Amino acid sequence: MRNLLAFSILFLFLPVSAPSQSAGNASAFGYANFSAQSKIETQFLAVPSARLAGEELKSLTAQPHMAATPEDHRTANYVAKRFRAAGLETEIVPYRVLLNWPKVVRVEAYDPAGHLLMTGPTREHVHGDPYQNNPHVVMPFNGSSGSGDVTAEVVYANYGRLQDFNKLADLHIDLHGKIVICRYGSNFRGVKVYLAEQRGAVGVLLYSDPRDDGYYKGDPWPLGPWRPATGVQRGSVQYLFKYPGDPETPGVASTLNLPVSNRVSPYGSQPHIISIPLSYHDAAPILEALRGPGVPQGWQGALPFRYHVGPGGVRVHLVSRQDYQRRIIWDVIGTVPGTQYPNDWVIVGNHRDAWVYGAVDPSSGTAALLEAAHGIGALLRSGWRPKRTILFCSWDAEEEGLIGSTEWVEQHAKALDHAVAYFNVDVAVSGPDFSASAVPSLKGFIRGIASSVSSPLGGTVYQQWRNSQIHRNEQKTPNIPPAGADQIRVGGLGSGSDFTPFLQHVGVPSTDIGSEGPYGVYHSVFDNFAWYTQNADPHFLYLQEMARILGLEALRMADADVLPYDYAAYAHEIGAYIEAAKSKATQAGLKSLNFAPAAAAAARMATAGEKVRDREMAASGDLVGLNQALRRTEEAFISPAGLPGRPWYRHVIYAPGEFTGYSAVDIPGVNEAIDAKNASLAAQQLDVLTQSLDRATNALDSAR
Ligand SMILES: [Zn+2]
Repeated sequence: MRNLLAFSILFLFLPVSAPSQSAGNASAFGYANFSAQSKIETQFLAVPSARLAGEELKSLTAQPHMAATPEDHRTANYVAKRFRAAGLETEIVPYRVLLNWPKVVRVEAYDPAGHLLMTGPTREHVHGDPYQNNPHVVMPFNGSSGSGDVTAEVVYANYGRLQDFNKLADLHIDLHGKIVICRYGSNFRGVKVYLAEQRGAVGVLLYSDPRDDGYYKGDPWPLGPWRPATGVQRGSVQYLFKYPGDPETPGVASTLNLPVSNRVSPYGSQPHIISIPLSYHDAAPILEALRGPGVPQGWQGALPFRYHVGPGGVRVHLVSRQDYQRRIIWDVIGTVPGTQYPNDWVIVGNHRDAWVYGAVDPSSGTAALLEAAHGIGALLRSGWRPKRTILFCSWDAEEEGLIGSTEWVEQHAKALDHAVAYFNVDVAVSGPDFSASAVPSLKGFIRGIASSVSSPLGGTVYQQWRNSQIHRNEQKTPNIPPAGADQIRVGGLGSGSDFTPFLQHVGVPSTDIGSEGPYGVYHSVFDNFAWYTQNADPHFLYLQEMARILGLEALRMADADVLPYDYAAYAHEIGAYIEAAKSKATQAGLKSLNFAPAAAAAARMATAGEKVRDREMAASGDLVGLNQALRRTEEAFISPAGLPGRPWYRHVIYAPGEFTGYSAVDIPGVNEAIDAKNASLAAQQLDVLTQSLDRATNALDSAR
């Protein structure tokens, strides 16, 4: 689901004290003696094949494979076959979940005299795309859209952010009974619909402005990588920030035998109103006819006319008939049992379902997953066995709302208390620029992995990552000095992919990786094998790179003597979040709030983390006890009561923002209470945070 355009990750410039590892190093954090492991890693790195990854990508993207379709089932069987060939114990795990498929989606626009201005949606087409005419391509629609038939005046709401809707309110524009048109970008599309619904709108049109991922950026497909006129971004508008997964079963797994009586109303996480995605080919006549005030500063897109806010000049008729059924989806789970700590799971995951062909999103991730499994399989044939159990997971129905991963996590919540890491990949390759997000305890770990894998551009992935980061800094933020050698910034985890249930529901330390480039065909028919080989990775070398990184994450974590978590780094980041929240509270006039206890608790945790790090570096003594204490530390961030108003989200340090959706809100209970100017709730959430930091410190202290 990952949308490149929506990333607005908070990068922190903190001194990084985690030990860094580089290729060929004799040591790695978490290992008493790395030389034997280093040989196993070298053996692994030789196996993932660019040629095979390319063949796998071609097979996976031969047909559109939306969740729950026969073509999706075929890809599940294909992945299971490859897992078994690698020697993994493999099962296909079905769930029955509520999904909508479109029966009718129609948009018509009229001028005040009743003349027709447009009808749509127009079929996605360009000159020369070899994949666009397949009858299995689903018409553009939004997952979780309501059904209905409405005719109304239109209002343009820019990106549909909270500040955009506030601006409309300042302009005294009433949205009751209106159809809101928003451009994609900046936040999660479900947030746009949520805010429109709250303000009384009866329908939402979501369109891709050429300024954001079309000709304003560069040549459109098939000349270049950007979105052509008829390209549409499908996507879910589920209210994921309430809870992800099957909308009828929050907190409960939708197994095939789950009684219907255990299901709840889906409107806890679904909109009531219609929403329909549009190309700019179809949106342009509506926007051009729209009258009312000219748009505020920053709202003008790249279509060749002056944009207006509305209402007036055009009326739109929307018809949406969605076929909601409980449908069967299929996760595929491949297991390599661990010899020493079989209950300690190292989980690698990627979703398999695509809106259409999904060459980049998610099939590049699936090809990388398969080649990582291929490499682990070669080690198994040589007699190697991991210390901890490794699970390779191919999730289904991620696009509709992280459904396959969420249901599986809900089913295995108890066992996941022992899981030591979840390594996600979704959009594995859209270009050459490596990027990673992680919990702070694993930022040093992912830097170390990147230092151990070579880049197709020469040097290590770590070096290329650093180069591209410095390059982007210089372009975007000239006042910020380039990052130092050990200061590659690793982003925080928000939402928008399958790490969400692992980290934010049950507290499994997680990472997410990708290799990025110009990518304007997200969730359209044009995200296909032809686009991929022309624009992203013609020789599949980046698929190979991502397979190596992903497999090495699993391997190094599974065999570590000591779990390579850096809790001093984690505590320092939390300390910075508390400082930032404090200045925000002061600005908001909430002067009575006392941040000192939470700040002191973060400082105590940092001290405890530094002491434990010495023991981790030594990797000697009672390792079982040390590892248990380290694992309990992340668990300390899980609050059983969950966040205020959204109990499914239980991590007190990270959650998707209610108004951003994709990007993380740090210490969300505290920050969202400050945003709402609710001082008593903020004080209560500061207590929850302080207690959780103290639990983490106690866990770390118990290891000494
Ligand atoms: Zn995806």
